[in-house]
Amino acid sequence: GPAADCPADVETLGRGTWTLLHTIAAQYPTQPSPGQQADIKGFMGILSRLYPCWVCAEDFQKFLAKSPVRTASRDDFGRWLCAAHNEVNEKLGKPQFDCNLWEERWRTGWKDGRCD
Ligand code: FAD
Repeated sequence: GPAADCPADVETLGRGTWTLLHTIAAQYPTQPSPGQQADIKGFMGILSRLYPCWVCAEDFQKFLAKSPVRTASRDDFGRWLCAAHNEVNEKLGKPQFDCNLWEERWRTGWKDGRCD
């Protein structure tokens, strides 16, 4: 893989971005205020325009247009984000992630104690 002090390639950028996004979902309130919901919607829209991989950004904008971001609760946003990530997984030939497990992966840690 690339040396840590070289510019990020599309894989490194993607892993870091998914980590940020799923961790934002993990910290998102179960009962978000209208302002918190507007922040997520605005952030995802801006990210889809600024994401520094242009084919990725273009496809992500298309995904947002057909599947508007869901912000009504932590679980709503977490599952929407999981579906967005799965869409990219499918495009890249990676396995689908079971979205029932998104909180175990990104918030609570695996029940078998792997994250303790
Ligand atoms: P990643 O896909 O980065 O996933 C990291 C970890 O997240 C996994 O190890 C797994 O534990 C967990 N995970 C996997 N799927 C899910 C899910 N559905 N929900 C929750 N957790 C999950 N790359 C391209 O080559 N072309 C593109 O068009 C492209 N578009 C992208 C668009 C966006 C918005 C982002 C953020 C990234 C994009 N990428 C794209 C990068 C790509 O998605 C991967 O990040 C990259 O290929 C590295 O993959 P990885 O196998 O390390 O795991």
